[in-house]
Formats: sequence, structure tokens, C-alpha cells
Amino acid sequence: MQLTGIPASPGRAGGRVVRVADAPGEPPVGPVPTDPDTEADRIGPAMEVVAARLQARADAATGDAREVLEATITMVGDPALLDNARGLVAAGRPAARAVWEAGSQFADMLAGMGGYLGERAADVRDVRDRIVAELLGLPAPGVADLSEPCVLVAADLAPADTAGLQPGIALALVTEQGGPTSHTAILARSLGIPAVVGCTGARSLGEFVIVDGATGTVDEVSSAAEARVEGAAAARATWDGTGRTRDGHLVPLLANVGDAAGAAQAAGRDAEGVGLFRTELAFLAATEEPSEQRQRAVYDGVLGAFGGRPVTARTLDAGADKPLPFLTLDGEPNPALGVRGLRIARVPGAGADVLERQLAALAAAAKETGAELKVMAPMVATAEEARFFVERCRVHGIASAGVMIEIPAAVLTAREIMAAVDFVSVGTNDLAQYLFAADRQSGPVAALNDPWQPALLRLIRLLGEASAETGVPVGVCGEAAADPLLATVLVGLGAASLSMGSGSLAAVGAALAEVTLEQCRARAAAACAAPDPAAARAAARGGPDVLSGA
Ligand code: PEP
Ligand code: MG
Repeated sequence: MQLTGIPASPGRAGGRVVRVADAPGEPPVGPVPTDPDTEADRIGPAMEVVAARLQARADAATGDAREVLEATITMVGDPALLDNARGLVAAGRPAARAVWEAGSQFADMLAGMGGYLGERAADVRDVRDRIVAELLGLPAPGVADLSEPCVLVAADLAPADTAGLQPGIALALVTEQGGPTSHTAILARSLGIPAVVGCTGARSLGEFVIVDGATGTVDEVSSAAEARVEGAAAARATWDGTGRTRDGHLVPLLANVGDAAGAAQAAGRDAEGVGLFRTELAFLAATEEPSEQRQRAVYDGVLGAFGGRPVTARTLDAGADKPLPFLTLDGEPNPALGVRGLRIARVPGAGADVLERQLAALAAAAKETGAELKVMAPMVATAEEARFFVERCRVHGIASAGVMIEIPAAVLTAREIMAAVDFVSVGTNDLAQYLFAADRQSGPVAALNDPWQPALLRLIRLLGEASAETGVPVGVCGEAAADPLLATVLVGLGAASLSMGSGSLAAVGAALAEVTLEQCRARAAAACAAPDPAAARAAARGGPDVLSGA
């Protein structure tokens, strides 16, 4: 049997299936506790047990994984959750039911807020389920401690489960739910674990499977030996730390990072620099603009990990799915199409001064650490905006200034934009969202946001052509760059550098080293000519199902 889901983290691996325990169901409303005080007193200790288990996982984790686990632990100990649950016990609910209701209310409230906070609703439901299971004496939901290498198959995986996984033990992940930008997908990429999400029917798979996280396919095989052969092939995919094609065409492979820990991890994985430092991620919880000094401390940490190598910092990309409380306009009917990214820096009294202070802090951090700083602006639509941004960078002595290409209008005016900047970097996540008018966070329209969509590839081809003409380099820093096969297509389309979650560097480096630049170009031409994403993948792979005329 072969199943197909959404490719979420590249790489191929095979092994024995381990099914992940489902969360406990909704507990019954009764019976009314005979001694409400004693019943309510069970909740605090249950929360402590859950927090201690997660803390043990956090202690063994680093980077993104540790952060996710620590955020989850904070939710477990939330005094409001405890108070509300105790109140419900006083009103006659058993403890497990009370935690269920209090947790569900909190999760529904977050879900109603949408955006980044809305995505945290799943984390709260996970915390709720863990405490409920503890109170009912059921096994903890999610992944048990694994001792043997295996492929994990689940309805869905909570971020706390994904974050605790060991790459050599969890060989691959397959989930029935989730989209390509879900937390599970992002963490799997950052851990370098191949993953397929949104794979309907996965829980009925047999004992051994082979997972291809680049194509989204999961194949049942009949023996452990067959599955292991794939695992061994994947392990052979090594990278020597320099991004280049087989014939020596250099394509620096860079990392996407959000903080100093992620930067240190990326440096340890041989990233040739940072292609996207998402500066806003450090300040998501800040209610006031962080002082220049606090910003410098964060920037020093990232730039310091890459002394002498290029680090491309993106100025605050506030708004839509990443609202910064101190830098987001209230009451916008459609934030993804509103004042987000660079736009807010042009609103006097809202973000203009924030941009100046951020550029000053970045320039100071570069001086201090000796890193080769490049700065780029998110959500640029016109050449006039690009000129404005470059001028602001120059005022602060920043020698290399560029813009992200995330809006189709910016592709169509690429030559004018390139005349103003030192480089451009394609954000394929947003470029797909705005090209297809399909919310990147929405599961039902996820297929439109597939980076293999030929329309997206043809748009990137236009950028490659403009780059060849103007000599201004175009990099790619969206998730598309993390897919090894697609990475070779992007190079064929003219990408001069690729930036990705550092867990994907080795697989992309190995894939690039196997092909010549001419082969990359042939793959790009075939993928662009294909009628749909599946055919584009097949065409790039040169498989038997390449369409005639493609
Ligand atoms: C993108 O849009 O592709 C991108 C890299 O930026 P972000 O995902 O942070 O919006
Ligand atoms: Mg973006």
C-alpha cells in the first residue's frame, strides 16, 4: 500500500512503525465529588507530575526543541488554569472534567484570536490532555520513551512530543493531521527528521514503512530488512560543508534562525552563514518595544555565532501570523493584506522610529562581533519601498541592504527593485500565499501553497532571469529551499544561495553535490513546464511519469 500526504520535512527513512497513543477522550461530567476540596487538591500535584516529565525532556533538548518544551511547561503551571479548574470542582465537576473544561475554554479563546496566538491553542489542548490523563490514571498521551529506532505514526503530534524526539531514534514521522507550516512540521525540519503530515489513513499502515518526506509518500514494505536498506541509503547522504554542484558551481547553503541557540546549532551543522534571521521571533511576547540595548544582546548572540561569515537579518516582520503587540495596528479587517512588514515602518508614530532603532542596534552588533551583516526588509511591494529601505540602511552605515520578494508585484518589477538593492531573497512561503490567494496557515488550501506549484516556479524563473541580467543575486529563504530535489530546481532557476532550517542542510548539500548546473537547469525547465505539483516533482526527478511535452 502507498499513501500520500503533504511533504513536511525532507529525507527518506524506513523502519518499524510505532503508533503514538491518542489523547484521552472528553471525561464525563459526573459524578459530583463527595469532598470537593480533596478532589480539587488532586489537580495541583497532577500538574506538577506533568511539568516534571516535560522538564526532563527539556533538560535533554536544545534550540527550538527546548524552547517549545519550556513554553509548554509554562502553560502547565498557569495559575489561571489551576484556579479555573478548582472553581469548576467547587461547582460540582470531578477534577479531570474540570481541567478539561478550563483548558478547552482557554484553548478556544486563543483559537478565536487567530494568528500566532491561535496556533498556540493546540499546545493548550495538549497540556489539558496530559493533566487529564494523569488525573484518570491513564498512560500519558503522545510518544512514550523510545529505545529502538522507529517510524512514528500518529493522528497528530503535539509540539511537546515532536520537540523531545531524538533524530537517530525517531527515523521519520507520519501524521494524519497537520499542515506544512504546523509546529510539528517546523520542528521536524529543524531536527532533520523526515516527515509527512496530513496523511489520511496513516494509522492503518502495516508494520514496516518507507517514508519520503520530500515527496510526501509512505510505502508499506514487507520486512525490516527492506525498510533498513532505505535507512542506510539516507545515512550515506553526507555533505562536506560547502554548497556546490557536482561541477563546482558554488551555491552557499545558509541557515534560517531565530535566536542565538538556533544560530549556534546552525554553525555546528556547517551552515555557511545565516540567510534569514527572523528578528521578530525574539520579541513575540514583548508588550513594549525592546530597548536598543536588549536588541543588541539578541543580535550579538546570533551574529557572534557566525563571526566573519554572512548573516542576513530581516527587520521586524510584524503583523498577520506574527503580531508583535507593540508594533501591530489594531482593528485591521485583513491583517495579512494590511500594514505588515516594512509597511509599518512608514507609518509615522507607529513604526518609523522602531525601524531606525533596530537598524542602529543591528549595525552596532555587527561592529562588535565582526560578522558580515546584511539587512533585508520583509513584505516589499514596489521599487520605491526598496529605495526607501536601502537609504535608511545606508544612514546607519549598513553596506549590504536588500529586500525580500514575497509579493507577486515585486517579481514583476524585479529589474527596478534590483536597481536599488544589493541583493534580493525570495520568501516562498508568503510568495505562494499571495500568488494563490491562499492563507499559508489554512489546512484546506495547503495544496495551493505547495512550493512545487508550477505557477510559483515560473514566477521564481522571472526573478532568475532578472538576476542574470542585472547581476544582483537572488537567494531563496522560504521553506522551498529545504526540499533537496526542489533545491536543485531552484538553483536551475537562478538561485545564488539557499537558506533553510539547519536540520535540512546536509540533505540539501548532498542532493546538490550529485548534479551538475546543467542538470539543475534541465530539472527546472521540466518542473516549470509541468501542469501541477505532482507532475513537477516527477518531471524534476526524471521519473517514468514525466509528461510528454513537459
Ligand atoms: C517566507 O515568507 O517565505 C519567509 C521566509 O518568511 P516568513 O516565513 O518568516 O514569513
Ligand atoms: Mg514571509
